[in-house]
Amino acid sequence: TKYGDVSAANLHHLAVRHFPLCMSHLMGTLHSERHLRHGGRQQLGLFLKAIGLPMEEALLFWRSEFAPRTPSDQFDKQYAYNIRHNYGREGKRTDYTAHNCTTIVGFSGGLGDHHGCPYRRLDETSLRAALSRLHCDDGKVEEAVSKARDGHYQLACAAAFEGIHRVPELDVGISAPLQYYAESRRICTE
Ligand code: SF4
Repeated sequence: TKYGDVSAANLHHLAVRHFPLCMSHLMGTLHSERHLRHGGRQQLGLFLKAIGLPMEEALLFWRSEFAPRTPSDQFDKQYAYNIRHNYGREGKRTDYTAHNCTTIVGFSGGLGDHHGCPYRRLDETSLRAALSRLHCDDGKVEEAVSKARDGHYQLACAAAFEGIHRVPELDVGISAPLQYYAESRRICTE
């Protein structure tokens, strides 16, 4: 599932085309607010690692997204350790893996937190707007909103996948952000 073109420079491009909403939403929030709280940094950071972003590129990416709100020397003191830690280069040297949907759907967050599954956490207006920005087919937007309303978040995500990629029904459900990404890369090669 790893493609060799994952670098700090093309993450935003990849996000628009291939990331599930839980990740593209974090990318967008990070970019506009120049900050993400811990839960969001973990959810997005471990995913970026899983799709093949090398550690040095991760440091580059987060440092530049946190600027100018966080100057780079402060970034290196406050946040770089955690990124290296996620890559298994600090502390217990555990090689942490990315979260699957069940874990992400279960996250609860406070005001100012943007992690978790957007199909569960966003209100209907925001969800419609977010999917429209990704050029999701209108019928599939409504299907996703209705599935989300019924608590079927992963089915909502699959409907959005179909609507964004203009494909008929997916054979398999969405079980992890990494799987959504791999499927998206597989079917759109441009
Ligand atoms: Fe992400 Fe899974 Fe929610 Fe889709 S269903 S947005 S992949 S957590």
